Amino acid sequence: MTDEHKLKVVENEAPGDKGKSIPDELPGGVVVRHAPSTNHATPDDPWIRDISVKDFAIALKNDAVAEELCEGERIHCEYCGEGFPMWPVRQWASHVVHTHHDQLTDQQIGAIAQFIAVGLTQVLAQWLAMQFLQRVALRRRARDMGLIAAVPGKIIQN
Ligand SMILES: [Zn+2]
Repeated sequence: MTDEHKLKVVENEAPGDKGKSIPDELPGGVVVRHAPSTNHATPDDPWIRDISVKDFAIALKNDAVAEELCEGERIHCEYCGEGFPMWPVRQWASHVVHTHHDQLTDQQIGAIAQFIAVGLTQVLAQWLAMQFLQRVALRRRARDMGLIAAVPGKIIQN
C-alpha cells in the first residue's frame, strides 16, 4: 500500500462516521483509519470480527438491497488502480474489459464480462458473499440493515 493510497482513505472518511467505540488514535501514535461506511455506534458482536464463531447467512432480496449494503464501499482496478463503487460491480468490470482488453486473455474477458450483468445474478451474489466474508464493514452494515439470517452457510436469494 502506498502512502498516496493511505491518504485517499483519510480523505474519503465521512465526518459523522468516526468511531465512538474505537478511538481515532491508539497508544504509540498509531492512527486508526475508519472506513467511510463503517458504523461504530453499535458495539461489535464477536462474529463481526471473526466469522468462525457463528453460523450465519445474509439475506439479499434484490439488487437494491445489495446496493444499499455496499454503499460507500470501493473496489479498485488491478491494472491501473482506478476506484469504483463496489455496487453495481458492472462499473468496475466494464472498465477492466474495455480499458485493459489488450492485457487480458479471452478467458479473462469472458470471466470478467459476467460481472457486467444487471441485477443480482448468481455470479454477482457469489462474489458479494466473498466480499461479505472479507469485509468487516459489510458485516456491520448487514447487521444494521437486519439482513443477517439464522441460517448457516450462504447468501440467500429470494
Ligand atoms: Zn484500470
